[in-house]
Amino acid sequence: MHIVHIASEIAPLAKVGGLGDVVGGLSKAQAESGHKVEVILPAYSFLFNHPIYCDCTFETEKKEKISIFNMMYNHCILSLIHPHSRKNLFSRKKIYGYKDDVERFLYFAKAAFDYLLFRDETIDILHLHDWHTSIISLLVKEKSKDLNVKKSILTLHNPRYQGSCNRRKFALLGVDPKKYLKPSLLQNGKKNNLNLLKGGLIYSDQITTVSPTYAKELQLSSFSFNLHPLMKKYKSKIHGILNGIDTSIWNPKKDPHIFNHYSSKNSAKAIMLAKQKNKLVLQKKLKMKKNSKFLVSSIGRLATQKGPDLIADAIEYTLQKGGQFILLGIAETKIIDQKFKKLQRKYQNNPNVAFLFTFNEKLSRLIYSSSDYIIIPSRYEPCGLTQMIAFRYGTIPIARKTGGLADTVIEKSKNQTGFCFTPYSKNALRKALDRAFQFNGTKRQSLIKKIMNLDYSWDRSMKEYLKIYRRRR
Ligand code: ADP
Repeated sequence: MHIVHIASEIAPLAKVGGLGDVVGGLSKAQAESGHKVEVILPAYSFLFNHPIYCDCTFETEKKEKISIFNMMYNHCILSLIHPHSRKNLFSRKKIYGYKDDVERFLYFAKAAFDYLLFRDETIDILHLHDWHTSIISLLVKEKSKDLNVKKSILTLHNPRYQGSCNRRKFALLGVDPKKYLKPSLLQNGKKNNLNLLKGGLIYSDQITTVSPTYAKELQLSSFSFNLHPLMKKYKSKIHGILNGIDTSIWNPKKDPHIFNHYSSKNSAKAIMLAKQKNKLVLQKKLKMKKNSKFLVSSIGRLATQKGPDLIADAIEYTLQKGGQFILLGIAETKIIDQKFKKLQRKYQNNPNVAFLFTFNEKLSRLIYSSSDYIIIPSRYEPCGLTQMIAFRYGTIPIARKTGGLADTVIEKSKNQTGFCFTPYSKNALRKALDRAFQFNGTKRQSLIKKIMNLDYSWDRSMKEYLKIYRRRR
C-alpha cells in the first residue's frame, strides 16, 4: 500500500506529545512490514540539523514557490514543506504555542495538498492527524477529479484542540467559506468562524481515536468538547485503536539506563530480585531509606487531566501505610505546583518519599524498573502510555477506569492486569491501593510475569489500522 501521513509532529525528531509518538511508531511499523510510507511535515528549522536534501521545487495554485526537502527516517520518506516566501512560519524554536498557529497550519495543510496535486500519484491511504491537517480531507473531496486518493483517514489524538479560523483565513484554502459556514457543516457554534477539525470529521472516510473506550466516550457531551452531535452522527465511521509503545526502546532486558536487567522469560523470582536490586540503587541515588515494603510511583504531567489531587492524597496514604513514594513530573499550573511544593515541605525530612519536579526520561526508566506500583488516576485519558510502559517493566498499574486506561488496566481475576477504580474520589483510590497492598506472594509474582508478556507493540496497533484502511466505506 502507498500510505501518506500528513502531520505536525513525528517522534522523536519533532515531538510535543502523543500525536508525535503515534506518527513515529505507526509509520515505522508500516514501513517495516513492507508498505511504501511517506510522512509530510513542515520543514521546521531544527530539522535542518539532519542530513536532508532538496528534492524539488514547485508552484502552488497561488504561484508561491515551495521546496520539498527529503530525508529517510525509519524506512519512511520524510517530505518537508519549505515555503520560499513565508520561511518564518516554521523557522521557530517550538512547534506550537504561537498566536498565528492556526494560520501556520492552515498554510501547511494547503501547501501539502498542493504538493500532492503537483505529484499526481495514486495514494491508497491519506492519513491525517488532529486539527492541523484534518481539513485536507475536505480539499480532497473538493478536488476529487484532480487527485487520486483512494481513502482518507483522520486520527483524533486530542479533540480538545479544534482549530478555529475566520472566513478570510479559511479562503486561503482556495474554497468558498460561505459554502461551509453552516451549523451542520463547519460553523463553530453560533459564531462567524469555521472549525477545521469539524471538516475532518465530516469529510474523512474513516476516523480513529486512540482507544476503544475513548471512541465511546467521545459520544458523550462531557468528553467531546462540544463535538458530540457530530460524533453521534458519524458514529459508524469512528473506531478506537490503542496506541503502542516502541518495545525495542522500552525493554528491561536491554535498557541502558537500568542496572539490573530482566525479561519476561526469567522466572518470577528472578524478576522480583532484579527489581528489588534496582530499587536499592534508586533508593541510594535519591537518598531514600532502604525499605523493602512497597514502592509506589507516579510519572507524568501534573495537569488537571491527570488527577493531581488524587496523586497528592495517594502520597500521604502510601506513607501512612509504611510504603514509599516517588513522584516524577512537572506541574502545568502555578496552583498545582504550589500544592505539591507544600507537600514536599511537609515531608522534607521523610526518607520514604522523593519529589522530582523535572522531566527526565533516564530517571523515569529507573523508576519503572524499581517500582511495585504506579498510579494513574486520570480524569480522562484518550489512551495513556504510562501503564503500557509499566506493564513492560513488571510494575503493576493502579488506574482510574477511563479511556485507554479502562481498556488496558483490568482488575477482574481471570484477566487481571492491575487494579482500578471508577469514581473520581480519594476514597476510591485509597481502596484500590489497599487491595494492591494486600496482594502478595505467588499471586503477585504471577501477575507481574503476566503483564510483562502483554503485547502493546506498534506491530499490534498497525494491524488494527490496516483493518480500518481496508474497510469498505
Ligand atoms: P500524556 O501524553 O497525556 O502526557 P501519556 O501517558 O500518553 O500521557 O504519555 C506520557 C509519557 O511521558 C510517558 O512515556 C511518560 O513516561 C513520559 N513522562 C511524563 N512525564 C515525565 C517526566 N517528568 N519525566 C520523564 N518522562 C515523563
